[in-house]
Amino acid sequence: MDEGPFFNRIAVVGVGLIGGSLGLACKRVKACREVVGVSRPQTVEEALRVGAVDRGVDYADLADGIAGADAVFLCTPISRILSLIEEVMPRAGAGAVVSDVGSTKAEVVAKARALGRAGVHFIGGHPMAGSEKSGVTAADPFLFQNAIYVLTPAPGVPDAVQERFVALVRRIGAQPVVMPPEVHDRAAAAVSHLPQMIATALVGMVGQMDEGDGRFLRLAAGGFRDLTRIASSPYEMWRDICATNGPVIREMINRYVQRLIDLRDRVGDDALGEDFGYANRVRGGIPKDSKGFLHVLHEILVVAEDRPGVIADIAGALAGEGININDIEVLKVREGEGGTLRLGFDTRRAAERAVEILSRKGYSVRLR
Ligand code: NAP
Repeated sequence: MDEGPFFNRIAVVGVGLIGGSLGLACKRVKACREVVGVSRPQTVEEALRVGAVDRGVDYADLADGIAGADAVFLCTPISRILSLIEEVMPRAGAGAVVSDVGSTKAEVVAKARALGRAGVHFIGGHPMAGSEKSGVTAADPFLFQNAIYVLTPAPGVPDAVQERFVALVRRIGAQPVVMPPEVHDRAAAAVSHLPQMIATALVGMVGQMDEGDGRFLRLAAGGFRDLTRIASSPYEMWRDICATNGPVIREMINRYVQRLIDLRDRVGDDALGEDFGYANRVRGGIPKDSKGFLHVLHEILVVAEDRPGVIADIAGALAGEGININDIEVLKVREGEGGTLRLGFDTRRAAERAVEILSRKGYSVRLR
């Protein structure tokens, strides 16, 4: 594999969580010789401090910031990406790739196509990795490690240009998946946008039923918490997602409502077992080799007391025997009562050894 830089200069416009992480990741793997940031002066200062960019300019100097860049990443909220495309497409250098990281793709790619210029190649992108934090101070060079990174090239991007960009995405540790923008938006609506709406609706419904005395939510355990974690998402990002994928999100909500009505009609009827069986099989078959779902090939469950150092004790015991934990998840957190840890290992043998070691230490543990 060629270990030399893929690109000479990469420009990142909007150096926040994703833009800063791209800068750090590209620099870490030496994917380019230079990363230039375009952001507010205060953000540029922070980006320089954390090492996400080599130099930076204000938005007023966008043309200067992207001059000579052979790849330009637009990393602002989607509404701003749409206006930046108007500014960047006419100014990008010949042969440059312009990309973005927005969470919806059809409208972005359509806009880029409409403003397309011979010799400037638009490849939409959506790294399926993130954090509840924002801003360049939360940027992480490993954010894209094992993450699916969807690429939605505009028509006419030459194969060689696309392959070089795909190689860059791979180089920063992500798994590139090329698809048409409309397919991305339908899939994202089903697996990301609809779950957000479900979480928001469910928490809102139960919150209102709580009648102010907190009785319902006091009982909220693992299932409710797992299902509603994303109800804490800030609205700002979702405003843009809804504005650019509204019809598909509405279609998915309608499908879901119909599915709930079907389930409602089977409550108390054993036919409901078939719905559970089907969902069990589908859930079990979700690919586990990318972020978003735990990479767990061989799992064990450990019942752990709620006390300081319990995870360190478990991890230390396994580390002492040379066993690597590939993934870890806390299930059924019951404050004050401990919970169950799910540990994932690469091999069955490692999982069995972990059961032996932890049982010897007095933990209640079993293979899953
Ligand atoms: P972020 O940390 O808030 O960064 C966004 C950056 O955009 C800010 O640092 C800001 O830099 C700049 N910006 C320019 N115009 C802006 C405006 N009108 N409002 C707010 N910020 C503006 O957000 P992020 O999480 O990196 O998200 C950036 C893009 O990535 C979004 O399009 C989002 O859909 C997409 N995305 C996010 C995630 C995720 O989980 N976070 C995952 C995949 C994709 P200045 O200080 O220079 O203004």
